[in-house]
Amino acid sequence: MKTEFILQAARAVEQAILASESTLESLDREIGDGDHFINMKRGSAAIVAMEAELAPLAPDAALQKIGMRLLSAIGGASGPLIASFFMAMAKAVKENNADDFPNIASEFAQGVAAIQQRGKANLGEKTMLDVLIPVAEKFTELANNGTDRTLLLETLKQVAEQGMLATKDVIATKGRAAFLGERAIGHIDPGAKSCQVIIWTICDLALNNK
Ligand code: ADP
Ligand code: MG
Repeated sequence: MKTEFILQAARAVEQAILASESTLESLDREIGDGDHFINMKRGSAAIVAMEAELAPLAPDAALQKIGMRLLSAIGGASGPLIASFFMAMAKAVKENNADDFPNIASEFAQGVAAIQQRGKANLGEKTMLDVLIPVAEKFTELANNGTDRTLLLETLKQVAEQGMLATKDVIATKGRAAFLGERAIGHIDPGAKSCQVIIWTICDLALNNK
């Protein structure tokens, strides 16, 4: 994980979130309170705005600063969850400074585990974790068995999409959508959608950086 890649990813993610405005807006209007797009837009803009401050930092320090900033930049349930992802990633990156897929997969998995702990949610509860957990597991598996880079990144995109689509057919047991019971069925979870968009964006960036 290099700081330069983090900054490149932040710029690309901000554009991808802006391009997903109508989708994210309508999903959170259907089963939430309609603020998810605004939250994600604020968060990604806040990271991009820190670019000059982050560029000279080592990746662990940059990730930690991003996490702290997101705590105040993103409101709602998703703010502390996403902030905890970055802070756990920062800690994991500090412990190993190698920049290869097995290490990055392990760092990512530790970030996802922090979201699970913070939100007390697991797979199948119609949240962002329905994308993040399967992606973290597949990333670890493929990185550790030396899967070809392109195949690995393309597979992660597929897993993210499947996880996002799977949120459509289940009821929510965490977050605002849990209040809707059966009425949440038929709607994709907004947090799962934004995570899928972010994972696609970062995988595409890595595919182009070859
Ligand atoms: P809020 O729910 O406060 O309006 P957002 O709209 O920004 O915040 O984010 C909603 C998203 O947060 C949901 O779509 C879901 O993916 C995610 N989420 C909510 N609660 C949890 C939780 N306990 N664990 C993981 N993700 C959650
Ligand atoms: Mg909301």
